[in-house]
Amino acid sequence: MTDSLQGYICNVCGWVYDPEQGDPDGGIAPGTAWADIPDDWVCPVCGAGKEDFAPLDGPSATATSDNAADSAPDANGLVIVGSGLAGYSLTRELRKRDADMPITVVTADGGEVYTKPMLSNALARHHQPDDLVQKDAATMAADLGVEIRTRTRVLAVDRAARTLTLDGGHGTQALPYDRLVLAVGADARVFPTAGADAVNIFTVNDLDDYRRWRERIGNEGRVLLIGAGLIGCEFANDLAVAGFGVDIVDPAPWPLARLLPAEIGGMLVDALQQAGCRLHMGRTVAAYEAAESGSLATLDDGSPIMFDHALSAVGLAARTALAREAGLEVDNGIIVDRHLRTSDPRIFAVGDCARTEAGPLPFIAPLLAQSRALAATLTGTETGLVLPALPVVVKTPALPLVVCPPPANTEGSWELDLGDGEAEAVFRTPAGAEVGFALAGARTRLQQQMAKRMPDLLAAGSRTPVSPGSATL
Ligand code: FE
Repeated sequence: MTDSLQGYICNVCGWVYDPEQGDPDGGIAPGTAWADIPDDWVCPVCGAGKEDFAPLDGPSATATSDNAADSAPDANGLVIVGSGLAGYSLTRELRKRDADMPITVVTADGGEVYTKPMLSNALARHHQPDDLVQKDAATMAADLGVEIRTRTRVLAVDRAARTLTLDGGHGTQALPYDRLVLAVGADARVFPTAGADAVNIFTVNDLDDYRRWRERIGNEGRVLLIGAGLIGCEFANDLAVAGFGVDIVDPAPWPLARLLPAEIGGMLVDALQQAGCRLHMGRTVAAYEAAESGSLATLDDGSPIMFDHALSAVGLAARTALAREAGLEVDNGIIVDRHLRTSDPRIFAVGDCARTEAGPLPFIAPLLAQSRALAATLTGTETGLVLPALPVVVKTPALPLVVCPPPANTEGSWELDLGDGEAEAVFRTPAGAEVGFALAGARTRLQQQMAKRMPDLLAAGSRTPVSPGSATL
């Protein structure tokens, strides 16, 4: 391991502070050690404070290679499929605990380390896609002492032979494993709509997607945004600030409808409109067609929207095909137990592709918690996943928001305290238990104390301080 590992990771958004690079935009010169950063410095991506960061190299290695040798035969080592935040944070956590375990990361993309939440606020920060790359794959491989195979697809998993079939662009190749971790992420969903083939509808769920999208949109134009959820609202705000025309279409009555009470939804509508967005709530796109100058979307009430570029942000679907074809149990994710173990005891899943008993949780904080628990288990200390309540920071500068939704299908109602440009809402069950909250404007400062009042998502014996989360994008 090298000095460049002495970084700190934001538990909220996954951004990594690398002392070699510093944070010049935030006034921290390259070469500044963590201890020398002022206490009032905040994460450049999500605004979390220094206290929300954890050391990347850990206080000390808590397990040695002897432990690892005890826990499993590792002649062929561990293979991790995927180099997103899940795959790489697991790799880092493993190296904290075991300097010698053979680890191979196989990734279909370029394997760059980047902070995914920055994709939805890069325009306003004048960042080009390549500016978001913190480290290339070769540097990551050297720093962590792992092998990283980039631009390589996994075609199949042979569980009996414990072998992967890889395609790196030069014919297929076999890669044996002792233990396998699937960190393959999720695909952006797209609604099937008449005429969609005639227009180009983009989705963005990784850096490669984002490069294509930015190349397409250039510096101007009218953007049709399908979906007013977390990602849709963040992109809409970012595009509007950067001067694009933005039309948002969503069948829900207000943006973030599953996360916010109507009153705060109304505040968000006002804020996004003031930022320059046009909202078409309660509507869907009935049809698309190519038009003389640009493209035309016709909504279900017949109203037309002319646009140049379209971005769909209507949710994620876990990538389960590889696991399903390998005979693993899957439904809306790869089913894992508290130890992130699939139905095959040698195969694990982590991040957006995994479905724990808490359901799919495509957010940063649970992903980091999963990586830490799984790294412990894989190095010989069986560790069950514990998830505290998970507030999510919504990157909509037009109206700062923190949401901590009640578990799906929970009965209850919102209690509201509305102020001037700020709001605080608590979701209470009929029995009076607080099970969710939403904060807007200046009240977002209450996120830590509110989170402590909420029940754990996956309970354990003891409670730990809660860090807010962030959408994985
Ligand atoms: Fe952050």
